[in-house]
Amino acid sequence: TKYVYTFGDGKAEGRADMKNLLGGKGANLAEMNLIGVPVPAGFTITTDVCTDYNKLGKDAVVAMIKEQVEAAVADTEKAMNAKFDAKDGFPLLLSVRSGARASMPGMMNTVLNLGMNDDTVKIVAEQSGNEKFAYDSYRRFIHMYGDVVMGVEAEEGQHNPFEVVLDEMKEAKGYKLDTELTAEDLKELVEAYKAVVRKHAGVDFPTCPWEQLWGSVCAVFDSWNTERAILYRRMENIPDEWGTAVNVQAMVYGNMGETSATGVCFSRDAATGEDQFNGEYLINAQGEDVVAGVRTPLEITVVGSKRWAERNGTSEEDRKANFLSLEEAMPELYKELDTIQQKLEDHYTDMQDMEFTIQQGKLWMLQTRSGKRTGAAMVKMAVDMLEQGLIDENTAILRQEPNKLDELLHPVFEESALAAAKELSKGLPASPGAATGQIVFSAEAAEEWAAAGKKVILVRRETSPEDLKGMYAAEGILTERGGMTSHAAVVARGMGKCCISSAAGTLVTGSSMTINGVEYKEGDFISLNGTTGIVYEGKVATITPTLDGDFGKVMDMAERNTRMYVRTNADTPADAQTAREFGAKGIGLCRTEHMFFEGDKIWKMREMILAEDVEGRKAALAKLLPVQREDFSGILEAMDGFGVTIRLLDPPLHEFTPNDDASQKEMAEKLGIDVSIVKAKVESLHEFNPMLGHRGCRLGNTYPEITEMQARAIIEAACDLKAKGKDPKPEIMVPLIGTIKEFKMQEEIIRRIAADVFAEKGIEVDFLVGTMIEIPRAALTADQIAEHAQFFSFGTNDLTQMGFGYSRDDAGKFLPIYIEKGILKHDPFQVLDQEGIGQLVRMGCEKGKSTRPDIKLGICGEHGGEPSSVEFCNSVGMDYVSCSPFRVPIARLAAAQANL
Ligand code: ADP
Ligand code: MG
Ligand code: MG
Repeated sequence: TKYVYTFGDGKAEGRADMKNLLGGKGANLAEMNLIGVPVPAGFTITTDVCTDYNKLGKDAVVAMIKEQVEAAVADTEKAMNAKFDAKDGFPLLLSVRSGARASMPGMMNTVLNLGMNDDTVKIVAEQSGNEKFAYDSYRRFIHMYGDVVMGVEAEEGQHNPFEVVLDEMKEAKGYKLDTELTAEDLKELVEAYKAVVRKHAGVDFPTCPWEQLWGSVCAVFDSWNTERAILYRRMENIPDEWGTAVNVQAMVYGNMGETSATGVCFSRDAATGEDQFNGEYLINAQGEDVVAGVRTPLEITVVGSKRWAERNGTSEEDRKANFLSLEEAMPELYKELDTIQQKLEDHYTDMQDMEFTIQQGKLWMLQTRSGKRTGAAMVKMAVDMLEQGLIDENTAILRQEPNKLDELLHPVFEESALAAAKELSKGLPASPGAATGQIVFSAEAAEEWAAAGKKVILVRRETSPEDLKGMYAAEGILTERGGMTSHAAVVARGMGKCCISSAAGTLVTGSSMTINGVEYKEGDFISLNGTTGIVYEGKVATITPTLDGDFGKVMDMAERNTRMYVRTNADTPADAQTAREFGAKGIGLCRTEHMFFEGDKIWKMREMILAEDVEGRKAALAKLLPVQREDFSGILEAMDGFGVTIRLLDPPLHEFTPNDDASQKEMAEKLGIDVSIVKAKVESLHEFNPMLGHRGCRLGNTYPEITEMQARAIIEAACDLKAKGKDPKPEIMVPLIGTIKEFKMQEEIIRRIAADVFAEKGIEVDFLVGTMIEIPRAALTADQIAEHAQFFSFGTNDLTQMGFGYSRDDAGKFLPIYIEKGILKHDPFQVLDQEGIGQLVRMGCEKGKSTRPDIKLGICGEHGGEPSSVEFCNSVGMDYVSCSPFRVPIARLAAAQANL
């Protein structure tokens, strides 16, 4: 078996399409070699080896790949004209980098400068003519290796022991910056670091480069299973089985003096989508310095540099003196970089996120990948690239991550509120959007507060991968330090969270923040505009955006390429209107019971429930009729011209009665009866399993007068609208059918009432009578049911509940544990279980069509707005999916993608 793939010198054994085997980074390092982009030589150990490693353990795997790794090191030596484990000649120093199929930035370990020891450092010093550089690299290596491979860590409540030693030295010598350390200082530091290793790890720092290499390779495999990597995978839905590849690559140095530099760049703007090359760099620095947010990096292009200066109020003079762009500082190299970024974008036909290093005037590319982007940038880039002829329409549609559209559907600040708001600070617009919330200073607090239902802004000096959970929980993130490519910025953009970094005048300690001298404490409200980088005091009002511009174009593309259409679940005319603006074509589920909770309608409902006989119920229902008619009229009118599926009363009646003494007393008084009657009624409605109890069509079949009233209200509303020249299309839906008889009884009532109303009004409307398929027995007998039902709507919430036997209201106690233990992959109430419940759905569709070929099929459970479930619905031949108004665009896109 081939475990190792080499690359270098314009040749490579791997290719871009081998991501599964080589990981994203490894596949692209190979590909860059093949298309003539300069990349330091090296090799990739496959992801399969990681899987073996997890099964077989360290020793077996090292023995298995040893020969191939040694051969690959020899190839790398040849390509770089250097020698690993050198006694003389130029030493080959290596980087050992992780690289999974999907990018997991900063989640796993990297070891740089590998191969350094007391001998090689001398040769490096001699050959580079730069002793300071050599010893600086050596001490960085001991630090990194000590951290990553030997587990030298800060103890509880203490600082990292390497940093303690470094700080002590700087203090003793009176230095402020690391760069003030002399070669002699660094030599001393190397010895001190070795002592740290000895003390904390109990063994000496390994001097043998091969031992160093195997230690690092195994550490990368181990890092696949660190807590933060596991957490990241769970949140990004990356399977644990994928494993990581290991990339071993010759080192190049951005810290070899003033003709060296390192940076990160993007072929387009990852925040806005603008087609503008951009990025950040530092002269005389090693890569991690840029991303770690320790030194604030400079802009790569003149355009970016000028924009930066304008944001910060830096004069052109000052900018030219202190903040020169790479384009100005190293024009030739910039030109080369610009050509390469264009070449890579054209080659991959997507926005690239690249890392580069300039070593003494020579440019090397270290990484390229399709860049993470905000929802807005995703949409704009696809539209631009389509118009530029870089991609076709299908690709433009498939490039959209449906869930990311969510960001575009969420609030932005109201302009007038924004104008009135007090500006506190301005930072980098690291990730766009609007966020308002209460300040918290730690990831833990962010999680706790969010769990308690509060909206929080996570405020940090800078963020690290440990803050991930807190970032997910927060509305927005504010950092004192860090550039546009800092951890916080990159991760926030990936999550679509609003983020401002390097906020001017801000000082963050563990438990407070001062902005220009004013203190802000935990719990204080602030607002962030991630699009402009401005921080505001207090809460700022927000508004909902609309579908236009590039977003509209993407939706048009989806429309042109879809087979299914999208309806919405809406109970009010306002929701129906919102959904219609987002492109909904009808209502898939209008829950009539929600209407009873508005205003004083509940009292008429309670009167009906308390009635002792049919006559009493009919009298109460007569009062409800005009109210319902008006509700239905509003909804039908808002969706004029499109089908509106109205579900008859579904929940058990006890949901409408009060449970506590005070409300029961109030009810008795209001209805002029004794409280004991109320109590007795509530008692009699009690059920052990209400969800399996007296609900759905079981109500309509025991109290037909309820169905009569609702059917009358719907048909009357429709007739009245039609008389006014409107085009109402009611579809009356009977819930919770398990047998055909249950349906037929309800249908008979509905059709009888409709005929009555038509006769009374002298006007007729088209309407359908159909049912929900939500009880497994209904799916199993769907052929019988479809002989009478004109449509099916799959109620996958109840179908999942009854199919799995999981009570929806109690599953919260065990589902998270089931997911953590891997018993279930997803919460089946969020992501349709295609394997099990999906069979019931498929069977329902097939059996339904077998007796009524033109039956209308749709879904109205929560799954109707979840992309993988939408794809499934397409595959079983549904006509539409229905979801909440704000998920309509997401479902429309998912429906188009499913069809491509
Ligand atoms: P991540 O996946 O977390 O981005 P990388 O594998 O890209 O990790 O490594 C982190 C950093 O280490 C890179 O950004 C780069 O600056 C530096 N680095 C990695 N390999 C090399 C190399 N061959 N030469 C110089 N620097 C390197
Ligand atoms: Mg470009
Ligand atoms: Mg990287």
